[in-house]
Amino acid sequence: MKVLSRLLISLGVVAATAASAAEPAPTFQFTNGRWFDGDAFVTRTVYADRGRLTSATPDRVDTVIDLQGGHVIPPLCEAHNHNLGGDEDEQEVIDRYLDAGIYYVGILSNFPQYTGVARRNFNRPDSVDVQFANGGITAPGAHPIPLRERLLGFGAYPGFTRDTLADHAYFAVGTADDLDRIWPIALSFRPDFIKIFIMQADAHDAAPEDTDYAGERGLHPDLARAITARAHAHDLRVVAHIETAADFALAVDIGVDVIAHLPGRRSVERIAPDAAARAAERNIAVHTTAVLAERMREQDADLFAAIQEAQRANLRLLHDAGVTLAIGSDLYDADSRAEAEYLRALGIFSPRELLAMWTENCARTVFPTRGVGALDDGYEASFLVLGANPLEDWSALERITLRIKDGRLLNLDPAPSASE
Ligand SMILES: [Zn+2]
Repeated sequence: MKVLSRLLISLGVVAATAASAAEPAPTFQFTNGRWFDGDAFVTRTVYADRGRLTSATPDRVDTVIDLQGGHVIPPLCEAHNHNLGGDEDEQEVIDRYLDAGIYYVGILSNFPQYTGVARRNFNRPDSVDVQFANGGITAPGAHPIPLRERLLGFGAYPGFTRDTLADHAYFAVGTADDLDRIWPIALSFRPDFIKIFIMQADAHDAAPEDTDYAGERGLHPDLARAITARAHAHDLRVVAHIETAADFALAVDIGVDVIAHLPGRRSVERIAPDAAARAAERNIAVHTTAVLAERMREQDADLFAAIQEAQRANLRLLHDAGVTLAIGSDLYDADSRAEAEYLRALGIFSPRELLAMWTENCARTVFPTRGVGALDDGYEASFLVLGANPLEDWSALERITLRIKDGRLLNLDPAPSASE
């Protein structure tokens, strides 16, 4: 409580009244803030009323907070990671996200058995909001099956065996019968969306005994299409892992909702302009994950330079076509800050474009049906206050002076004594 009081005093709170525990969320008046409207920062008075932003004066104001000229932006977001919903204490990871101002996270694979227990730790005012894929659907023997089995060997999955990883950590679908068999199992774990693996899409006509592609080919295009249709019939979105430009084109063709990577992490890939145009037409969002190419920097400097050149071309193409680009890192030990930094260094996006990709585009890609990613009336009362204008000084994003989530003050300091 002391910490909170000190925080409020330092922020110039002029009339703090203790909210009763029965109240769902106090009503705040925020004065002297410069609020980002998608283009620029505009000084205005904003209220948080029953967890929503409004510019209309509510009947009652519990607390006035003077933002003292601070720059207000929507929360940051991580579109693509794998580091939540496991069987270990994840408070440190949650705290890291919140400290960075990242409120929304897409988890692209997880074990329902672990996540079922962990779920109470997410999607509440004092934690991150997460969407979980559960196990993805891939071809027999293909990624991520060998990876999962290797990690199992290292003791990463207590309680699991090679056999029980199947139909849980992943689903292997090589035939239409396989799909019929696994589909009810996949649905029984209540995924927030369906993850599929499209890899070496142009190699499906090669003979099955062609060992060049052993373990490299993802779902057969017909099965990927069938899964997408089934998921959509169940109101579930489909997020596709891809690797090549041909994979990207196939994912667009079959009408997935999100493509989970920019093609070309280890190879030079160029997205076809017509695939980019159709992705925009179909409202397909793309997780950038460009930072994954960093692994090539040391291995092969020439190839890395060529990959980066292709990344610039692909990102420009997608951006100019009007495709929604959402910042996601796919870095287990890091988060979207690393991806944002990598994209910034590529030097093709303005600060305003990067900020939109990191806030609005990402939040709406992770939670497409919620009022998140903007600060307009009616949107969820979740935002960050920065000490300076991030469009002029990008490092301002590292200086968050106030975090509001779900209409409440987010206090990250460990409370010396809990008041309830
Ligand atoms: Zn991933």
